[in-house]
Amino acid sequence: MIAATTKAWVEKRIPAAERVKYMSGPVDFVDDAAIERTIAANAKPEAGRVREIVRKSLAIQTLLPAETAALLNVTDPGLIDEMEDAALAIKKKVYDNRIVTFAPLYMSTVCVNNCRYCGFRSENNEIRRGVLSQEEVRRETEVLAGVVGHKRLIAVYGEHPRSDTEYIAETLRTIYSVQMKTKRGYGSIRRVNVNAAPLPVADLRVLHQTGLGTYQVFQETYHHETYRNMHPAGTLKADYQWRVYCMHRAMEAGIDDVGIGALFGLYDWKFEVMGLLYHTLELERAFGIGPHTISFPRIEPAQNTPITAELPRKVTDAEFRRAVTVLRLAVPYTGMILTARESVQTRNSLISMGITQMDASSRVGLGAYSDTKPDQQPDRQQFILGDTRSLDELVGSLAQKGYITSFCTAGYRCGRTGKCIMDLLRSGQEGKFCKLNAVITYREWLDDFASEATREAGEKVVVREIEEIRANNPIVFEAFMKNYERTRAGERDLYF
Ligand code: SF4
Repeated sequence: MIAATTKAWVEKRIPAAERVKYMSGPVDFVDDAAIERTIAANAKPEAGRVREIVRKSLAIQTLLPAETAALLNVTDPGLIDEMEDAALAIKKKVYDNRIVTFAPLYMSTVCVNNCRYCGFRSENNEIRRGVLSQEEVRRETEVLAGVVGHKRLIAVYGEHPRSDTEYIAETLRTIYSVQMKTKRGYGSIRRVNVNAAPLPVADLRVLHQTGLGTYQVFQETYHHETYRNMHPAGTLKADYQWRVYCMHRAMEAGIDDVGIGALFGLYDWKFEVMGLLYHTLELERAFGIGPHTISFPRIEPAQNTPITAELPRKVTDAEFRRAVTVLRLAVPYTGMILTARESVQTRNSLISMGITQMDASSRVGLGAYSDTKPDQQPDRQQFILGDTRSLDELVGSLAQKGYITSFCTAGYRCGRTGKCIMDLLRSGQEGKFCKLNAVITYREWLDDFASEATREAGEKVVVREIEEIRANNPIVFEAFMKNYERTRAGERDLYF
């Protein structure tokens, strides 16, 4: 039962003028029938055409719907191998061997919506409800920044007056204010991305001014009828257009790093990949900037949420792999996030499909980082995690595979966001800054947080990276080494 004050808040939440502002007519930019037709019309792509499309991806150009549909329909194992090789080559070209890490920080378990697949839906009376106080946010941050060693968070908020924009802004200020002493220096969170409900422009401006990193809102499903079925009428989330245009409002508010995503398992996976592409093309058309990141979570089990056990469109591992590969090829410049919802095995096997960001040491229960009971507790989590490895384990495992974990957050603080970062990514120049910052932040992390085994694996990565910078970027090598040595000596947060 929703309280009268909450109901009043819900009723005033969506300003009518903003809802339709970016629509050019009665319909939005996701044309379900056109997507279905395009998938059907490209059912049997010839090998020559597939290779031509892949060459376009390798040139870091966004694909068209027909091209993406063709890749989704490839069945020849040899061609699929070629696509996977290209996905990795694109990742290397744009992001080199860097993987960015982060942790989710859940701020609340209250929500006015009633999404059928979500453990936090308002009608679920088997969830413990709450909103973190600022003191609790501080305690969670102290663990993440001072013990685990994260520099980047995704703060997650349910849609509710108790976790409204003012609350979100206050939590950002609290997180940024925490500084913890470490073995050799200090730890702090330097970038807070936000996963929250679609907001009006004025609210988004407030968050932008408070230092929000990426604004992330997932459409869940781009298929209109499925969207209606999953989000009961009368709830805020039932409004497909309010949600699908929220990144337009974010851009208007000055937030040009936006993260889009779909929840795989609600409708046909090929359709959702096409929906993500349509969203990308629309943002490119309207603002000249595509999404900073794309996420593709698969639905996981949740407390007292039967639909998660009998998914309408369960996505197999093989289909998921293809979805990730095609997304990498279709939007070659974007960051791709593979979260700890997935198992260790799935995450390990998909890294080479072009993944750029992974979370670690993740806990999705409210207040779970500072809790003394580390186990997952289904009655205070939105879903159950598949990979509970620590950040130290992930960094060590990535090092063994030849990846450097980047803790860099400089781009956002140097104004390298939005179109600026997109142009740098497309031209392969972003790596010039990122490689330097990756090594410096990796050095910090190894000295402050690494176990002996991880440090040993990490030192080999550092040696190789420094040699690469010396060989490929000689002009900045001296300046880089100065910052590197200052970091070794205990200075923190130096960046280019
Ligand atoms: S998916 Fe999000 S909006 Fe829907 S019930 Fe869960 S927390 Fe609320």
